[in-house]
Amino acid sequence: MPSGRFAPSPTGDLHLGNLRTALVAWLRARTTGGTFAVRMEDLDTATARRDLGARQLDQLRAIGVDWDGPIVWQSDRRHAYDAAIASLVEAGLTYPCYCSRREIREAAAAPHGALPGGAYPGTCRSLTPGQRAERQAAGRPPALRLRAEGAVVTFDDLVVGTVTGAVDDLVLRRNDGTPAYNLAVVVDDAWQAIDEVVRGDDLLDSTPRQVHLAGLLGLHVPRYAHVPLVLGPTGARLAKRDGAVTLDDLAVQGQDADAVRTRLAVSLGLARPGEVPTTADLLERFDLAQVPRSAWTVAAADL
Ligand code: GLU
Repeated sequence: MPSGRFAPSPTGDLHLGNLRTALVAWLRARTTGGTFAVRMEDLDTATARRDLGARQLDQLRAIGVDWDGPIVWQSDRRHAYDAAIASLVEAGLTYPCYCSRREIREAAAAPHGALPGGAYPGTCRSLTPGQRAERQAAGRPPALRLRAEGAVVTFDDLVVGTVTGAVDDLVLRRNDGTPAYNLAVVVDDAWQAIDEVVRGDDLLDSTPRQVHLAGLLGLHVPRYAHVPLVLGPTGARLAKRDGAVTLDDLAVQGQDADAVRTRLAVSLGLARPGEVPTTADLLERFDLAQVPRSAWTVAAADL
């Protein structure tokens, strides 16, 4: 039985874009007879909070998304990420990186052959022991990076098709000690036996990294389905500043959660405007292959 998941970062209320992705992931799991998990990606304690996660769960329930089993909070699973990182260190596949954000931004801005935009070009990969000691003495705590060794990964995305991407020397542990997103997501998708990851296509660029990492850790690689994002009136990814985008905002405008769900269903081609589809209608009509291939742009007049 396939199992899917939705893995929000509990940093604020879910907006139309998050809710639409959650609905697609849930419909996919439920129409394939699969289980559905919700995982709170709350490792970044500067922005993530349990109370915000609890609100997100209410928002999911309000649009009819339910889940199986307990919610997994990544902040409870540091030991699992530490163990995975330790095994990569043990295998000699890591190195400390002393670059500042600015140095990384500047280095990443230059073209680097096959690597995707924003990729880390490996500045600290071949520091001599002396250079390392010098940086250590300067007091800047290092991040820990993977030696990707030029890996190139190909996978078949259920929505996007065949994707090939080069893997950069991604961060495993940030310099504040927090396990990095790419590491935690791979460890947890395997631990929760997720075999289908349905998520926004903003994460498509990170997927080769995750497939590679799973391989190195000897973990099962799920199938992926990256669905187009929701865009705001400016053509950029929908954001809170665009206007009425959360259930609370929309309720103030007279759109209750059912109305929002209908709106999402219409955007997915699962209902006609004006019709109020039931959950049974949505389940009957949903087909991943029919999910629109282009982004849904929300007009300014609708916000
Ligand atoms: N927590 C990530 C986010 O909210 C999503 C992780 C994933 O679906 O792989 O962007």
